[in-house]
Amino acid sequence: MRIEHHAFQPADLVAGHLALDLANTVTARDTQPRDWLDDYDALLRWARQSGHYARADLAKLEELANAEPAKAATALNRCKSLREALCAILYALAQDTPPAADDLATLDKARLAASSAARLVARKGRLLAEWSVERSGPDLIAHVVTAHAIDLLKDAQLDRLRICDGHDCGWVFIDSSKNGRRRWCDMATCGNVAKARRHQQRTSAAR
Ligand SMILES: [Zn+2]
Repeated sequence: MRIEHHAFQPADLVAGHLALDLANTVTARDTQPRDWLDDYDALLRWARQSGHYARADLAKLEELANAEPAKAATALNRCKSLREALCAILYALAQDTPPAADDLATLDKARLAASSAARLVARKGRLLAEWSVERSGPDLIAHVVTAHAIDLLKDAQLDRLRICDGHDCGWVFIDSSKNGRRRWCDMATCGNVAKARRHQQRTSAAR
């Protein structure tokens, strides 16, 4: 897979779910996939954009990565294998086929690691699992994504899991539209390109 430097923007995180947004850090899965996580710093930038992580935690992770780059690189690789397994499972489920055993095993391993790093804390009258840099180290981002992924995969919301119809995209997303017929990850990008292409085909057919 080609690795590409990328400046993450809000338009890159449109899946409607953290775990799907991680899967979408590879783009053009339907043609020539490009991986936007070129280093641990890219993962940090993605995490910042997601809004799911405390600034203070991300700052600590950055320090950690600078102090121990080899550990950060290994954590990034673990995060990428989680991402690929997760994406394969999401594709299978979106296409109504059973996920591969290898992918389930990878996700299960990530689930166990995330769960053993979690701590139960009382917040506003209920208990929550919480992750910290102290316990998760450079795997903090992956641990939080894993917890979100497991919640989603057990949820009925999964009926609304879709793969974008756009060319050079392959992104996954949760269709939260009223009629449940959203076809594109983002109307402003894939949707418009598809519309323009259809329009062009119509006008050239008319000619
Ligand atoms: Zn798309």
